[in-house]
Amino acid sequence: LRRDPNALRSELVARDLTVRFGGLTALNKASLRVKPGEVHALIGPNGAGKSTFVNTISGFYRPTEGEFEIDGVQLAGRKSHEIARLGLSRTFQNTELFGELTVLENVMVGYQQGLGYGLAAALLRTPAMRRQEEECRRAAIGLLAFVDLQDYANEEARFLPFGLQRRLEIARALAARPRLLLLDEPAAGLTTQEIDALEEMIRRIAALGVSVLLIEHHVELIMAVADTVTVLDYGQIIASDTPAVVQDDPRVIEAYFGT
Ligand code: ADP
Ligand code: MG
Repeated sequence: LRRDPNALRSELVARDLTVRFGGLTALNKASLRVKPGEVHALIGPNGAGKSTFVNTISGFYRPTEGEFEIDGVQLAGRKSHEIARLGLSRTFQNTELFGELTVLENVMVGYQQGLGYGLAAALLRTPAMRRQEEECRRAAIGLLAFVDLQDYANEEARFLPFGLQRRLEIARALAARPRLLLLDEPAAGLTTQEIDALEEMIRRIAALGVSVLLIEHHVELIMAVADTVTVLDYGQIIASDTPAVVQDDPRVIEAYFGT
């Protein structure tokens, strides 16, 4: 996996993002800045609006109001595949792999998405695409090694243990060569050992120059890897600072433990 020079300047800025579902305001004028190369954690109680934030900036939900941009390019109103091509890649709270494809093929699909091809084109294998496919295969093998899944390359994804499926999802998201990687609760359901491996992996991703927006409940993981922690509560951002400052913020303590 080569360091991508583009990765080094990526910055996500969201301004006054509001998302309403009927009468419910899931996000209320949320503003947030993910600085280039940082690991930025987005935390908050259940229902606070974290997934809504991710779903909105990745183009799956339309904001009711507000705007967001990556490196100055406006993203509001664009479709999810367009946003992905502009450098924003994500994993889902519930893994969404192609179960019948092999581990390697799942990562290769990620590359094709990064190139702007669909799955159909990836599987058509016209002669003109063969060489590119070989290149893609080699890159995918490299990524599998990066996430330590090289021994599972030819297994069908659905037969992988849960923890390794999550890891495969990260590899697939990285295959699109993101400048910003969004991880929605990547530690959920993982063992302590797997969480340690995840922590180390997030550090290595950040070291490549990719900015990371991490949605997570696991406090130790956040404290260990995040440069900045932003806290959502009832759709509003109530704090955004270093982990040490945020964990002592009375509003944050109130949001988590108050009645
Ligand atoms: P979190 O990820 O922080 O737990 P969510 O963003 O999933 O919170 O949800 C925030 C609020 O928005 C919740 O009240 C949830 O029920 C609501 N919500 C999320 N997505 C939708 C949707 N597609 N339609 C209607 N309501 C939604
Ligand atoms: Mg969520």
